Amino acid sequence: MKIQRKRIVVKSAVTIASAALATSALSACSSTSNADDSQPSVLAALYPLQFAAQSVVGDQGTVENLTPPGVDSHDLELTPQQIASIQDADLVLYIKGFQPAVDDAVSSIGDRALNVTDLVETIEGGENSHDHSDEDHSDEKHSDEDHSDEDHSDEKHSDEDHSDEDHSDAEQSAVDPHVWLDPTMMATIGAAVAEQLAGTTDDSSSNFVANSDQLTNELNTLDEEWKSGTKECTSRDLVVAHEAFGYLAARYNFEQMGVNGLSPETEPSPTAIARAADFVKDNDVKTIYYESVAAPEVAQTVADETGAETAVLDPIETLPAGSDADYFSLMRGNLDAVKTGQPCS
Ligand SMILES: [Zn+2]
Repeated sequence: MKIQRKRIVVKSAVTIASAALATSALSACSSTSNADDSQPSVLAALYPLQFAAQSVVGDQGTVENLTPPGVDSHDLELTPQQIASIQDADLVLYIKGFQPAVDDAVSSIGDRALNVTDLVETIEGGENSHDHSDEDHSDEKHSDEDHSDEDHSDEKHSDEDHSDEDHSDAEQSAVDPHVWLDPTMMATIGAAVAEQLAGTTDDSSSNFVANSDQLTNELNTLDEEWKSGTKECTSRDLVVAHEAFGYLAARYNFEQMGVNGLSPETEPSPTAIARAADFVKDNDVKTIYYESVAAPEVAQTVADETGAETAVLDPIETLPAGSDADYFSLMRGNLDAVKTGQPCS
C-alpha cells in the first residue's frame, strides 16, 4: 500500500517534481515489488465495471470482480482477502453508496478508488433502490400490520410526487447507480480507466488508450443500434419491476415507471401494484419488464390485472455463473426485448 501511495504522489506531483525525484520514487517501487508489478491490478465492484476495465486492460494487467458470478451485487460482503486485495490494487472501480462493504474498504486508498458516478451526470435514484437499511426495514414490515401505511397516507397529501414517500428516510440525494446501462457512460468509464492506469505504469508499450478508444467505438455502435431501434415505438413508457433503467430510459427517450421501486427482493405494497396496474391500463402499456435474477411475480401480478405481457430486461448487474454472455450481448438482448415489448417498428 505504501508503494502504491508513492505512485499516486509521483503521478499527481509530476508537473512540479524533478525527473530525479520521480525516478527515485519509481525505483523504490520496483525494489520491493514482484516481477509483474509493472502491470496494473484492477478490482471492480461489480460485473459491468469489470467489463469496462477488462476491455481497457486487455492482457496487460489483471482485472478481478469483487462480486462473484451469480451473487446479487447489492448483497456483496467482502472476505478479508478481498479487503486486503483492495489495499494493494492499483485501481478499484466502484459505485459510491451501492455496496456499503466496498465503500468502507476503499475509504483508505485515496486516489486509487474511482467512484464511477463521479464521472457522469447522474440522476436521482431509483427510490433508494440499493439502500440496505431500507431493505431491512421493509423485511420487518412484511411481518408487520403497519406495512408502510404511514407512507401511503403521506402519499395522499403529496400525490404529485411518489418519490417523496421514500425520500423521507433522510436519503434525499441518493444517486441512481445504474450508469452502465447508458453505453455512452460506459465509454466514459473506460476512458477514465485508461487515464488512471497510464499513471500506474511506466511501460510505454501499454495500449490502454487504444483499447479504450476501441471500446468507445463498439459502444457507439451499440448506442446507434439502440437509437435507431427505438426511434418509432408505440409506447415510450417503460414499466419495470425494479427501477434499474433510469439512464437507459433517459438516453433513448423512454419514461421509466417502477412497480416496486425498492430493491428487487422487496415486495411492493398492494397500493403500488394498483398504481402500476392503473398506469398500465391508462397508458395502454403492452409489456411489464422484470429482471432475470429476480422473481417475476411482481411483473406477473400487474400483467394479470391488465392483460399486458411480461418480458425480461436485464439490469446487467451480475452474470449468471457459467454464462457466456457479456455486456454487449446482454444490451442487445435488452434492445430486442424493448423493440418487441413497446413495440418499436
Ligand atoms: Zn439494481
